[in-house]
Amino acid sequence: MLLPTAYREYEQLCRQYDTEEACERAIFRMKWPNGYSCPICGGRYPYVIHTRSRKLYECRKCRHQSSLTSGTIMEGSRTPLRKWVHAMILHALPSGYSAKEISRILQVTYKTAWLMCHKIRHAMGHSLVKEILTGIVRIQPARYRRTIMPTAAYLTEWTKTVLGVAQFSRLGEIMQLRIVKVDDDQVHRRVVQPTPIQALIKKYVDPSAPEPKIVPQDYGPERNRNLNRAILGARTWINSMFSGGIGDKHLQAYLNQICYIFGANDHIALFHKLLNFSAITPRITGKELTQGIGDRRFDPAARRSRHARRWNAV
Ligand SMILES: [Zn+2]
Repeated sequence: MLLPTAYREYEQLCRQYDTEEACERAIFRMKWPNGYSCPICGGRYPYVIHTRSRKLYECRKCRHQSSLTSGTIMEGSRTPLRKWVHAMILHALPSGYSAKEISRILQVTYKTAWLMCHKIRHAMGHSLVKEILTGIVRIQPARYRRTIMPTAAYLTEWTKTVLGVAQFSRLGEIMQLRIVKVDDDQVHRRVVQPTPIQALIKKYVDPSAPEPKIVPQDYGPERNRNLNRAILGARTWINSMFSGGIGDKHLQAYLNQICYIFGANDHIALFHKLLNFSAITPRITGKELTQGIGDRRFDPAARRSRHARRWNAV
């Protein structure tokens, strides 16, 4: 259920982006804010070639051809841009939509909807890394608890430790939130080890900001109530979208989505930011998504270790 203001904003955006041309123009502006620029030589003047499916831009200087969607999360997709933009509008809303609902709303197959949703979450993850936290920052863990009920009488629970990091205002309100899942071997007796905490700081916190306040255990009076409430709110949001909750492989993607929309009132601004990040975030393939490695792409340490593995394998 959407609040009336969110619904009005949703309708306004749908009207604004109801044609392929309007979406094309918007993505062009986001991708090339200062006009076309060749990705190879930086040439500023293209020939525009109309193919059967999409427009191609051919650089007049080096003849390199690129499409509007190359180098974006939409690269290689045959889905109309109008549907992509509509999916982004829906993702900028507070309610959250499952791939099944998106498939019904956009009239695409479930598989297409699933890939679109995850690619959009991938762009959200990129924006969370780009906008680093600064000022008053606190870090503390909590548990994501998934409830699966195979029968009414039998109840199994699956839990995962997650680390929350938040930027606070002087009045103690959370301005920005990031939540990451923690590997089980990095938690001993409900205390998170220093390695994932340091990795979290490196990834999300401004190095020139004052030392963040760290509470490594998920219990005790030192924990900040607002941050705890925000992490539990994320859990409720995910579990209400998927009855039973979400498994380990894609948990991070949904945590990224809830952090992206956290505390936002202006859904139009949130949508424009999402459109912008969708146009500047390189594609992630379906294979990478199903292997659940999407988020690691933005993690310099993980990238290095993957590179090292490849290097060692040679
Ligand atoms: Zn060129």
